[in-house]
Amino acid sequence: MLYRGRRVVLDTGVQEAGILVDGHGRIQSVLTGEQLRAFEGPQEDVGDLVLMAGLVDSHVHVNEPGRASWEGFLTATAAAAKGGVTTIVDMPLNSIPPTTTVANLRAKLEAARDQIHVDVAFWGGVVPDNKSELRPLVKAGVVGFKCFLCPSGVDEFPHVDAAQVEEALVELEGTGSILAFHAELCGDQKTDEITGDGRRYSTFLKSRPASMELAAVQLVTRLCRQHSVPCHIVHLSAAEALPLVRAAKQDGARLTAETCHHYLTLAAEDIPRGATQYKCCPPVRSRGNRERLWTALADGLLDMVVSDHSPCTPDLKLLPPAGGGDFLAAWGGVSSLQLGLSLFWTQARGRGFSLQDASRLLSAAPARLCGLDRRKGRLAEGMDADMVVWDPDRSFQVSESELQHKNKVNPYTGRELYGVVVKTILQGRPVYEAGADKAAGSRQGKLLLDVNCR
Ligand SMILES: [Zn+2]
Repeated sequence: MLYRGRRVVLDTGVQEAGILVDGHGRIQSVLTGEQLRAFEGPQEDVGDLVLMAGLVDSHVHVNEPGRASWEGFLTATAAAAKGGVTTIVDMPLNSIPPTTTVANLRAKLEAARDQIHVDVAFWGGVVPDNKSELRPLVKAGVVGFKCFLCPSGVDEFPHVDAAQVEEALVELEGTGSILAFHAELCGDQKTDEITGDGRRYSTFLKSRPASMELAAVQLVTRLCRQHSVPCHIVHLSAAEALPLVRAAKQDGARLTAETCHHYLTLAAEDIPRGATQYKCCPPVRSRGNRERLWTALADGLLDMVVSDHSPCTPDLKLLPPAGGGDFLAAWGGVSSLQLGLSLFWTQARGRGFSLQDASRLLSAAPARLCGLDRRKGRLAEGMDADMVVWDPDRSFQVSESELQHKNKVNPYTGRELYGVVVKTILQGRPVYEAGADKAAGSRQGKLLLDVNCR
């Protein structure tokens, strides 16, 4: 089967091309010019729509098993397929049990099996008492590990201190694995001792100042310089931390950093009173901060953009009553897995970002981070034929009824977004098609445990 179009996003540019898929769902070859004109086999022409590698969202909290009422594999991967995301990487916490032992990973795999519409890989977790599980987890196929430097929000996933991080880094040396950090450090900041009107966003913002991120990034960059294990900063929000990231990278530290759609789209000044659907940690900060994150993306200082899709049930999100939510009490986490491509593109298109930038930041870079890059994240010979067909020039209004997420609460309802996903293809077969009641080949996702054989 050949998928062809006039705006195919390749490593070399955006051009007329055809992606020829073999019988195993891999890209057999990329046809251009005379080869494309001469092709006579079965083909689908997407015309002026964009044909791009499917998105790889390396930061998704699926929450199953244990908190499947928050989100589950079936609904999360259906949302992913509808949003053009062909691979998600599940975070180790918020499920019960958390992915901190091989036995717990098996519980995850059992929960995910037969439910998934797109491919799913897994992060492991570093907690204070699981050093001996790290190497077995690498062997079992986790893409890397995540740890917290401050309380995670759930009791079963405790945070680690600097000494425990060092122990984990020593343990991971030579495995090819990576350590990702939720980079907020409490230090003298007592996040639970803030008083004031909890319905005001500014009260919450005061409880999670940029200095917490700054202190954590300081620690991460120091440890990253001292060890050979690649380190990654998840969901960087505070622009104040960017110079530290720059200095570490310039010194040759193996450091990467991501930011999320909500930090690039939202701004503290615009968050209404009591609107706890905007709450996440680290928090959405000022408009000026948002612009500095965009500059850092343009400069290559920030490596990728992911969702940090982290839903919960409405009762935990909108503590009480609806509309008068308490920012200090509500669960922190924003839902956006299905909307990632459109959220990014709506902001990026007016800031000089190209379709190739979108593909690099949303697909290639997260695939590389997770060691999936021999098969995921680009349209090139030998890669999986994971693709999204979308219209960057058309807009739509976000409505909860269109979201496949298990819980629909989100800060984007009613917004006009550019970038309409028309079709999502996983290993050569459609998993989502706009207008179709049901995707042709549903639940055909695979568990990714050994993609690069590292
Ligand atoms: Zn997260």
